[in-house]
Amino acid sequence: MYGVRWPLVENQIRRGLRNHTYGAVRMKKLDDGTLVPRAHQGWDFYAPVGTVCFAIADGKVASVKYGGDYGTQIVIELDSIKCLGHKIYVMYAHLNSIRDRFKKVGAAVRRGEIIGETGKTGNARNLPNPADCHLHFELRTMVDAPQGDGKNLSTSFIGRISPGFLYTEPPLTSKVFDFCAPIGPLSPTRKNVTNGDN
Ligand SMILES: [Zn+2]
Repeated sequence: MYGVRWPLVENQIRRGLRNHTYGAVRMKKLDDGTLVPRAHQGWDFYAPVGTVCFAIADGKVASVKYGGDYGTQIVIELDSIKCLGHKIYVMYAHLNSIRDRFKKVGAAVRRGEIIGETGKTGNARNLPNPADCHLHFELRTMVDAPQGDGKNLSTSFIGRISPGFLYTEPPLTSKVFDFCAPIGPLSPTRKNVTNGDN
């Protein structure tokens, strides 16, 4: 499917909870105590600090930024995978580090290359529980999708697509392993393989 790989070797949604997936999946408490839906614009994959992350497909570096809520972040523009004719941009946030050769906008990236290590930068820095260490991972149709504050559902998803567009279902209850060096089908499609599946 699309020839993409997963961003990590072991891929599982943070704490296995749907509110760390894409959509109006979180709740916000108003002053009067009412709970209203709040947006999350990507998938949070559980990742101890220092976990290597990979380019999911061939592309080029579109943006590298440091600071703000996303902390150290890189956006990669994919060469040939599109969504309804739109370019797809892949964003990795809260990183510890980005590999030197990918710190330059325009640098070519090949699928499976290590682009950096996960961390706790930006608004992830104060998460006290190690179970919350994560890679915030977004698919976008523009490099600088507006961050929003998650509260305004009509604007929170501008320039974004669910990672489910490429990966179908978020891995909530079990890890999806992707050791993938060679280009091949996504791990979830392996459930259709009847033998030789290791
Ligand atoms: Zn997140």
